[in-house]
Amino acid sequence: MIEVRTSSAEDGAARNVSVLYVGGYGRSGSTVIDMALAQFPGVFGAGELGNLPRHVWPNDEYCACGARVRACPLWSSIVERWLEREPPGTMERYGHLCVRFEAVRNPLQTLGVTGWTRGFQEYARLTKNLFTAIQETTGCRVIVDSSKSPSRALQLSRIAGIDLSLLHLMRDGRGVAWSMMKTHEVDLSAGVQRPVGGAPAIRTAHRWMAFNLLTEFAASRVGAQRSIQLRYEDFTADPVGALQPVLAMVEAARETSDATDLAEIIPGHQVAGSRIRMGGPLRISRDAAWEVKMPEQDRLKVQRRAGWMLRRYRYL
Ligand SMILES: [Zn+2]
Repeated sequence: MIEVRTSSAEDGAARNVSVLYVGGYGRSGSTVIDMALAQFPGVFGAGELGNLPRHVWPNDEYCACGARVRACPLWSSIVERWLEREPPGTMERYGHLCVRFEAVRNPLQTLGVTGWTRGFQEYARLTKNLFTAIQETTGCRVIVDSSKSPSRALQLSRIAGIDLSLLHLMRDGRGVAWSMMKTHEVDLSAGVQRPVGGAPAIRTAHRWMAFNLLTEFAASRVGAQRSIQLRYEDFTADPVGALQPVLAMVEAARETSDATDLAEIIPGHQVAGSRIRMGGPLRISRDAAWEVKMPEQDRLKVQRRAGWMLRRYRYL
């Protein structure tokens, strides 16, 4: 249970914030990982934070606690604290800055070679201040951001005052492709904001490779001491064991040992992410439906196109 803290004894703007970023491709279990990490003391799971200014706040979408985000006591406090000294319209302006600086479609910017372009300082300042507001409001030392986008990871790594650690989460590309082939209709209270799914397997194979390679690049920028790879399948096999190195990386291990067995995961205030966050307490299970349900021809398409990378991650 997160207690909302409304008063701050000291100005946190000067202090660094520890951010654990979950990067990789979609349908890889990032929301479950975010929720699992948040079961440990001192760790706050923010969900896909990059979507807060883009559509979650403007559309007043649902928080994992079941409230709409503007009615959620935690997020309304965070946003009030974050924007209290900012002019009206800042949320909207910040949303545009996030779209601009975190666009995967701009490869030079994603690779960080276009440098200090106009607007970046404003983007960096507001991003750092948002994390600070989360830290002060929740009292948690580590903030998990499971936005996934590798370009957001690269941008966060360039912001002074953010101590970024990167968890590169991956899942078997064939399972991801099967998940993307299935369709989900819009269901706002279930956390589905727009129709999703129906993607051809080969399209997913290409995107799965590109996003994982970009996440590897982001990890090389963050550095070996501050990045770690995790296969979602290894997490479902041994949830606590798989997260121990991750918690150790963000120096949360000592305070968290024996804190939870992760037998049941309680949703917190993940502000965006998979619809699984809206389903109440969660039991982790091995999701391998694709092994029996995915059409053979689609599985072979993914294996032919992405085989080298499936082998790289020990799936073949
Ligand atoms: Zn909430």
